Amino acid sequence: MSLLNAQALVRVALPVPLRREFDYLCPLPLPAPGCRVAVPFGNRAMTALVLSHPTDSSIDTAKLKAVNSILDSVPLLAAAELKFLAWAAQYYLYATGEVYFQALPALLRKGEAATYRPATVWHIVDQSAELPKHAIKQQQALTALHQGPLSQSELQVRGVSSTTLNALAKKNLIEKREQVPHLSDWRNTPWQVTEQDKHRLTTEQALAVSLIQGTHGFSPFLLEGITGSGKTEVYLQVMEAVLAAGQQVLVLVPEIGLTPQTITRFQQRFSLPICTLHSGMNERERLDAWLSCRDGSSAIVIGTRSALLTPFARLGLIIIDEEHDTSFKQQEGFRYHARDLALLRAHQLDIPIVLGSATPCFESLHNAAQGKYQHLTLSQRPGSATVAEHLLLDSKNVQMHAGLSPQLIELMTHELSQGNQVMLFLNRRGYAPALLCHGCGWLADCERCDAHFTWHQHPSRLHCHHCDHQRPLPPACPNCGSTQLIGTGLGTEQVEQAISGLFPQYATIRIDRDNTRRKGSFEKHLEGIRNGQYQILIGTQMLAKGHHFPDVTLVAILDADGALFASDFRATERFAQLYIQVAGRAGRASKPGRVVLQTHQPDHALLQDLTHQGYQHFAHSALKERHFAQLPPYSFQALFRARANNASLVQHFLQQLATQLQPHLSPHVLCLGPISAQMERRAGEYRYQLLLQSSQRRELASACRLALAIIDTQAEARKVRWSLDIDPVEL
Ligand code: ADP
Ligand code: ZN
Ligand code: ZN
Repeated sequence: MSLLNAQALVRVALPVPLRREFDYLCPLPLPAPGCRVAVPFGNRAMTALVLSHPTDSSIDTAKLKAVNSILDSVPLLAAAELKFLAWAAQYYLYATGEVYFQALPALLRKGEAATYRPATVWHIVDQSAELPKHAIKQQQALTALHQGPLSQSELQVRGVSSTTLNALAKKNLIEKREQVPHLSDWRNTPWQVTEQDKHRLTTEQALAVSLIQGTHGFSPFLLEGITGSGKTEVYLQVMEAVLAAGQQVLVLVPEIGLTPQTITRFQQRFSLPICTLHSGMNERERLDAWLSCRDGSSAIVIGTRSALLTPFARLGLIIIDEEHDTSFKQQEGFRYHARDLALLRAHQLDIPIVLGSATPCFESLHNAAQGKYQHLTLSQRPGSATVAEHLLLDSKNVQMHAGLSPQLIELMTHELSQGNQVMLFLNRRGYAPALLCHGCGWLADCERCDAHFTWHQHPSRLHCHHCDHQRPLPPACPNCGSTQLIGTGLGTEQVEQAISGLFPQYATIRIDRDNTRRKGSFEKHLEGIRNGQYQILIGTQMLAKGHHFPDVTLVAILDADGALFASDFRATERFAQLYIQVAGRAGRASKPGRVVLQTHQPDHALLQDLTHQGYQHFAHSALKERHFAQLPPYSFQALFRARANNASLVQHFLQQLATQLQPHLSPHVLCLGPISAQMERRAGEYRYQLLLQSSQRRELASACRLALAIIDTQAEARKVRWSLDIDPVEL
């Protein structure tokens, strides 16, 4: 090896779709692993992350390129974090570099400095300046600034107005400067939770808290508690001890669950720095939050899925709220499951982790049954809150009004007249899920998908919910010219319209993705519901998750039939979770609640089980069926998906893969397919998939690695878009 003097090798990760690392020459002293460097790659410059300092390269050093510059003097990621991400890339068999870069906020990926946004602070210019005695406010401001520079908002807290500051600035006594904020260490400032702020725990809660607090090191808990049983109170009390020991807490919540209300609950309990991490933040906000996790200046971090990849200075506890929620699984690119990776992270850091839910996913229930998790149960609501009454309403031969049976309308009338709120749930937005010609039966279908257009009225259009294609409503049937175009089926817009006709004296609000797109509008609607501005709430599952509406006493699921006959083996589990979530909205405070389910299948075993026996019982029998069929969690799956504009190309690609793989598979690995995806054509592409399944994780992983090696040699692989999904949650 003939390296030039004062140069050595660095091995780096690059955000490119290749499962490998790259070597570069680098001037001494070498940047530590976890630092970024700018490197030439192809004909452009890229940001890379240093992983190690190899002594040798498989590539001739004469051919190696040198890094352009070193971007960090301090590592962004610690050795343990690099190791964790490397493991994640291995487990999901995903491009290593992309995995590392998912752990960095966008600004750092682009090569920006890893520093906080500079804030404007006020400084004293002339320390000895005298002010006339009567300028009391200006005196106050100077006294505050004598201790050191302060930002406008810090001064405001001390009662100094901007008028005063501007007056002082005019006299050239103080001036503004841009400065990176100095963060004080929250561990040095006293904070305390007063006993009045806490609830007196129920026996079940107290047991859960003491068991979690009594553990040391890695210990996973499944906290299964019915809605309103006080899981959050358990989290808060467990967190208190961890925070008191100076450690940080990470709380993961589902995509839609991170509302100001959630954050307020934590803020009210702890006067400590709390930061959030979610997709609604801009790049600068994300970087600042990320830095505060990494340097430890945030005590509590509340975030969605990707917050799990963030580095922490002193993480002492991970909590995953609504652990069954599918938004914890990333559905594109690096398809990781934040819950599964969180367990790995907790194991690596040797800290406790709490998975909480009213409806734990079957995987977690199975792990608890096997003794891998401690199973804690909260079966009662504290105080006077009662558990809701469940009613199955038979829709057969019933004259419905926009999806509401006369019986439901009667129940609604009663509750509304008592001053209570009513919530109607329908998981279909738009006016009607299809547009039909009454003259000839023509249906408005999306040209690019195997799907009907949804008819929307606000604003009026046909909209494909699968590829987002939109077009104006046709004036007449393109097939027969009839102008009698009618909607079939029911969407939330139609229910909203009908309700306004049926109950004109009550205010109605609809909550779905269509009318919550604008930033802050979802929160505004929720606020309006809580302060009683609306009496009738209509919504999709957005409305179902984790929100407290104390005045809702009646919840109705308008159409339960669809979920009963879906093809995905997880459909019943999902429906049951959704049902319990929706039902949990009723009677949360002191008012008793009712849950109504309209169905044409009132005798269906699943519905009977859920309404009479509850989720645990349902899960128990459903898990037996999974066991019998050897489906997850009794086996593990990996799914190869492929798509292209040409159907036979996709089929051939996967068929080739299956054929070449088959002879090398162990008898413990099943290879199923290729078969078409549930919707074969979507956005103009044909979609097929190949499923690998095994009861042995290790053998499944080797089969996947083998398949990837085969794909690397296949010419067709470059003509189709393919991906590998380990532990898929949707087939
Ligand atoms: P979950 O998260 O299980 O749905 P929450 O933690 O939101 O339940 O609690 C539901 C309600 O009960 C909240 O208003 C909470 O303040 C209250 N609560 C929780 N624990 C207690 C308790 N031990 N005593 C009285 N009220 C409680
Ligand atoms: Zn027609
Ligand atoms: Zn479409």
